[in-house]
Amino acid sequence: MRDAVVAFCAAAGKEPLLVQGAGGNVSWKDGDTLWIKASGTWLADAAEKDIFVPVELAQLRAAVAAGQFDVKPVVRGESALRPSIETLLHALMPQPVVVHLHAVEVLAHLVDADFVAGFEQALPASISWVAVPYRKPGADLARAVSEALTGSGASVVFLQNHGVVIGADSPAAVTAMLDELVAALRTQPAPGATAAVPAAPIEAGGTVYEPVPDAGVQRLATDPVLFERLSSQWALYPDHVVFLGAFPYLADSPAALEAALAQEQALPELVFVRGAGVFARPGFSTAKQVQLRCYFDVLVRQTGHGRVLALGTAEIGELLDWDAERYRMSLSKQ
Ligand SMILES: [Zn+2]
Repeated sequence: MRDAVVAFCAAAGKEPLLVQGAGGNVSWKDGDTLWIKASGTWLADAAEKDIFVPVELAQLRAAVAAGQFDVKPVVRGESALRPSIETLLHALMPQPVVVHLHAVEVLAHLVDADFVAGFEQALPASISWVAVPYRKPGADLARAVSEALTGSGASVVFLQNHGVVIGADSPAAVTAMLDELVAALRTQPAPGATAAVPAAPIEAGGTVYEPVPDAGVQRLATDPVLFERLSSQWALYPDHVVFLGAFPYLADSPAALEAALAQEQALPELVFVRGAGVFARPGFSTAKQVQLRCYFDVLVRQTGHGRVLALGTAEIGELLDWDAERYRMSLSKQ
């Protein structure tokens, strides 16, 4: 099983519309052991590095049965890695292989307030699914998923403003289901003029901001419709907030940016300048850049008449104060 799971992870990890950086996690069950992706590791690295940690499965199942969703997984043997924050989510799914992804073609719908009604229309009857309202990743989310799954027999769980979980007998069966979901839910991105990556950095606040080297991401500043959405439709899902912060830093022009930054105690790492481009301070990590690309990919797919639902300040606050997420962030800076 391990080889097939590793091959699945390495392949999915290379698809930016399926996996972004350290996002997503995969597990398989082997007797009383749950092999789960380690926190902060990248699925794309599965073939080159050992990204899985073995944990005791019976202990987790007993905790779920007792309603103890804040249980700490027990790692078997010696490993410097920590099991994924979503370990319990994987343990409570009965299937041998469980995959959780922030797949863009699915996520683009999960930020729509009425996604459940849309899925009832769009998804084939062969897919057995349940939907769970937004919950903070970790114990709260595991509890909600456990309650939604009880008695359902579902193999797909949609997490509002977050992602999808698929359980199956094998990685091949997961791939087949994922392909079916993506085919049914694919959205044509909104057309728009291709943006060029600005040729030159801008200097503001006494420092240099480099253009983010991604023409898609640049559209967030040069496309007036997308730029308008940045302020009200920023915090759409957890990883976006954890990696890119609670709010975007917006300016109407390079001169306005210069004036605004002169007032700041701490300079923002990432700035959006209307019509001019998206810029970041040197050191803006790859992990953050792929999150930003994911955000563009989700936003550019909001082409229907749906109502985009952003996370509220309470939800954003609990994400940013979260110790396990800080740990994940510290890994992403390496
Ligand atoms: Zn997730």
